[in-house]
Amino acid sequence: MGEIQALRGTRDILPNEVGYWQWIETVAREILTRATYREIRTPIFEQTALFERGIGEATDVVGKEMYTFHDRGDRSITLRPEGTAGVVRSLIEHGLVSQGGVQRLWYTGAMFRYERPQAGRQRQFHQLGVEVVGSADPRADAEVIAIATDILQNLGLKNLHLDINSVGNLEDRQHYRQALVDYLTPYKDELDTDSQERLSRNPLRILDSKDKRTQEIAQNAPSILDYLGPYSQHHFEKVQQLLTDLGIKYQINSRLVRGLDYYTHTAFEIQSDDLGAQATVCGGGRYDGLVAELGGSDTPAVGWAIGLERLILLLQQLQSLPLPVVDFYLVSKGEAAEAQAFKVAQQLRRCGFAVELDLSGSGFKKQFARADRSSAIACLIVGEEEAASQTVKLKWMVSKEQQAIAQADLLAMTDKLHQQIKAFRALNA
Ligand code: ATP
Ligand code: MG
Repeated sequence: MGEIQALRGTRDILPNEVGYWQWIETVAREILTRATYREIRTPIFEQTALFERGIGEATDVVGKEMYTFHDRGDRSITLRPEGTAGVVRSLIEHGLVSQGGVQRLWYTGAMFRYERPQAGRQRQFHQLGVEVVGSADPRADAEVIAIATDILQNLGLKNLHLDINSVGNLEDRQHYRQALVDYLTPYKDELDTDSQERLSRNPLRILDSKDKRTQEIAQNAPSILDYLGPYSQHHFEKVQQLLTDLGIKYQINSRLVRGLDYYTHTAFEIQSDDLGAQATVCGGGRYDGLVAELGGSDTPAVGWAIGLERLILLLQQLQSLPLPVVDFYLVSKGEAAEAQAFKVAQQLRRCGFAVELDLSGSGFKKQFARADRSSAIACLIVGEEEAASQTVKLKWMVSKEQQAIAQADLLAMTDKLHQQIKAFRALNA
């Protein structure tokens, strides 16, 4: 039988790449914790109906991209294509929205969409997202945007730009929808096939089309911003003012309509100039209609999701990862020596050192070569002689200085060793 490979559209995250992922999580976790966001983890699969209701049947995600199957109990189940619907379901189910007050939440995890795989577009991909549930205040919109820009900035990313728009409330959109349909109908035959179909089902999405002729036509379409009622207008102005106050640059893009049906008021995207076709790293907005749509009380909410694969592509362009941290590389040969080295390794790890133990059983020369290739700062050697005298030889990799230390003493001098290693790292940083 042939070799089994990962499915199309899925990728292994190998050890030499995983540092980027951990780095993003560390930066994001710190920023989110300071802003008092709390992590939530929801299941990877849910009832299909959750996404049909929460995302909307007329969207690409529900219409074409979901991984839906029947389980052994004949229930229709879907691998989550995004995080928001599950988070909101969970809040409603656990009575957390009916308590009133504001929930600030974040999540990260794998999402699944049946799409044509390409750079920055996979079938299993990962998002990190936030949701603020229970506030209609424009400060909530500006806060989540500010957090997204902080995370991206703290990762050192440049050439990013923020587009914002308002899609108003349902009433505004009904008026706009009619105006848009009136404008587009004479061009119907020139629109791409998807857009022709959307003309009756979901005309706003036509503005989002990637087809060139459709985009040209959409250029002169009426702007949603001319259809906003006073509340929507005020809300949008407030968000802009708050962003300006924080020194966050943005562009208004009245063609920006997120792909999902439940968005109201603010919609925004952060794009990168360095990603080619899949340029959007973060997308989000307000979704005041969703909680009620999913059976909760009428509760406003706002959030975003960052696509982590696209972030990783950017980080890889920007800088390489530091080598894994190894303090000591342990070399040993012979039965008694190997047993002692094994014990020393474990003891040093308990004292907080990063210790790599050579398990090869090969000759000293080969083990030393591996120690050189590792990023270890010092080598600890236990040979026959050391085993007999219960000592280790400590050899600093760069200076080549070495000394014999009784194994028992080694553990008594861990503070000094920690200091030496720290000083070495500081010097070579
Ligand atoms: P796109 O227009 O690129 O398909 P989208 O509007 O479908 O994006 P959202 O549902 O808003 O995307 O998801 C938020 C973010 O998640 C996107 O901006 C992107 O960074 C990332 N993302 C979405 N789909 C994929 C995918 N198939 N592979 C990798 N990342 C993705
Ligand atoms: Mg998409």
